[in-house]
Amino acid sequence: MTEFELIYKLINTQTVQRADVVTGIGDDCAILSVPEGYSLAVSMDTLVKGVHFPDSASAYCIGYKALAVNLSDLAAAGAIPAWVSLSLTLPVADVDWITEFVRGVFELAERYQVQLIGGDTCSGPLAVTIQAHGFVKKPLLRSTASPGDLIYVSAVLGDAALGLRSYQGDTHIAQSCIKKFNQPEPRIELGLWLAQHATACIDISDGLISDLGHICSQSQCGAEIMLNKIPLSAEFMDYYHNQPDYQTALSFGDDYELCFCVNKNAAKEVEVYSHQSGLALSCIGQISTADSLSFVDQNNKTVTFNEKGFEHFK
Ligand code: ADP
Ligand code: MG
Repeated sequence: MTEFELIYKLINTQTVQRADVVTGIGDDCAILSVPEGYSLAVSMDTLVKGVHFPDSASAYCIGYKALAVNLSDLAAAGAIPAWVSLSLTLPVADVDWITEFVRGVFELAERYQVQLIGGDTCSGPLAVTIQAHGFVKKPLLRSTASPGDLIYVSAVLGDAALGLRSYQGDTHIAQSCIKKFNQPEPRIELGLWLAQHATACIDISDGLISDLGHICSQSQCGAEIMLNKIPLSAEFMDYYHNQPDYQTALSFGDDYELCFCVNKNAAKEVEVYSHQSGLALSCIGQISTADSLSFVDQNNKTVTFNEKGFEHFK
């Protein structure tokens, strides 16, 4: 068996077999059928060793996270996940590494019934690119928020930032934060609900300041955020001895929670959905007619942040 044949053998251990995949892995192209009445939602994200994951990250976690961050983009668009393609650049064809990597990818893929439909494999410095494809009837956009809309975020912010610190030698990091960094939960069900109820949405990959900033600039509006409404975990509060570092929580990113806007009449419905789904949804502020994002503390004093969020080429 050649190294390539070996890789294909491992990749072909997936169990998801969708009826809308006419031709999957093995031919020149995957042939796919999009259901009547839906548009195709497509998104791509790359993870590079040393940039997106620490050198010591396990292959399982790299696989899981590579898929999770892509499904998170589908969630932010309100799309139903369907297929993914995978570009793998590997320094060596290490069977154990690839076995663990596909275990991470397929564990999450099975949960959402997502099928791997093709890709490319080459040798070089470790990098993983996934392209995710989903179906959407009424997409959630960044450009459609209006002044007066309420702004929400799901779950908590900042835990992933602490998770990374455990890889940098900090031994005081809670397991839940390490898990959040390695295995973020794509908010697919929330995204599908929001497609019917929200005015705008984005997933928080680069930090709230940066990502809500995209909603503001693309919707040509501003936002006023109350710092004391930012949801933080007990672990995050403990780490900072109840003096939370908002700069970290709002600009590190990697949380993959959704930030969304709803008409202010929809607050009750959001509350009911949050209660029924068991997923915390916190109202953190409101879209304004200002030209940018601003933060106020509990005394209504403006707070400014130096770092906006993660940027490549900075
Ligand atoms: P080609 O030379 O025609 O691009 P390849 O030898 O690169 O074909 O790939 C053969 C088949 O294996 C194709 O169907 C391709 O989509 C699939 N494939 C290659 N690498 C991967 C991968 N990393 N993940 C999933 N499918 C892959
Ligand atoms: Mg190829």
